[in-house]
Amino acid sequence: MARKTLARTGRGQEGAVPAQALLAWYDRHRRRLPWRALPGEPVDPYRVWLSEIMLQQTTVKAVVPYFAAFLARWPRVEDLAASPVEEVMKAWAGLGYYSRARNLHACAMAVADGHGGRFPADLAALRALPGIGDYTAAAIGAIAFSLPAPVVDGNVERVVTRLEAVDEPLPGAKPLIRALVADMLDPARPGDFAQACMDLGATICTPRKPACGLCPLQPSCAAAATGDQETYPRKAPKRTGALRRGAAFVVVRADGALLVGTRPPKGLLGGMTEVPGTPWSADFDAAAALTAAPLPLPFRRLPGVVSHVFTHFPLELVVFRAEAPAPMPAPTGWRWITADAIAGEAFPSVMRKVIAHGMPGI
Ligand code: SF4
Repeated sequence: MARKTLARTGRGQEGAVPAQALLAWYDRHRRRLPWRALPGEPVDPYRVWLSEIMLQQTTVKAVVPYFAAFLARWPRVEDLAASPVEEVMKAWAGLGYYSRARNLHACAMAVADGHGGRFPADLAALRALPGIGDYTAAAIGAIAFSLPAPVVDGNVERVVTRLEAVDEPLPGAKPLIRALVADMLDPARPGDFAQACMDLGATICTPRKPACGLCPLQPSCAAAATGDQETYPRKAPKRTGALRRGAAFVVVRADGALLVGTRPPKGLLGGMTEVPGTPWSADFDAAAALTAAPLPLPFRRLPGVVSHVFTHFPLELVVFRAEAPAPMPAPTGWRWITADAIAGEAFPSVMRKVIAHGMPGI
């Protein structure tokens, strides 16, 4: 199979054939999604932006209830901008990286204050907004403003690398994939083209067992012709970090309150809520862990460990629990939250696992 290189792009009219086949398929089979305008309806850039930021983190299925809740509570970008950032962070809980929630709020304020409440219809101006990178700017530009921008997410990478048999592994192949998508897109319908690629990748050109028999691109697909679809996109071998270990302290007051703090705004899990703990390191010494306990209480080590995998390293935490009498003041830098407030607190997944381990039934 011929390798694709940047020098070989420039399909011209050749690209129009798969694009038209894809758009005809999209007109019949497009997914109905709550942030997507129906044919003939005006597109709301606020909805497009909100959904794209949420979808950076997780699946369509997981995003749907969050999107509905955000829209019900903050129907316009000005409403979101006027909300305290802590409320946005709480509503975001469960969607992952909190830096994105902070950027979401900062972006809403920038649009409300700097652009009169209207997202700019310009890629450079979109990219200048907090939390909007190349991909999100292209997605908003194409879908909300019909700008002919190549929109390349994981689904689109899969479709295009198969269609064109791109042998270069990711992430190095990204510029080539963008160039191929730019060649292929229909400038008359860039938003529909982007969403059609996403839908095809999500429903037909799936990572395992793609349904090539139902695919509108099959006549043009290089990978389908050789039967090695599932080997695309090629990936560079993964480097995983060394295991880190540490301890977490679950301190529960007699009235059910839990001792928590807020992580520094920058860095891993920045600004999120945590229970006290030791640093996480490869040479963690469990026997010395109690020297980091936040209060002089009789801690007991709970059986088992909490495991979590971050992008760059796996983590194992041992959990110590202690009961504190009420009232007992929180040590400097920490605070008590009531048992009722735990569900709405901005805990990252790893901390929710620790709390589930240390407070079963919460
Ligand atoms: S023919 Fe198969 S591999 Fe090729 S784009 Fe369609 S679903 Fe993907």
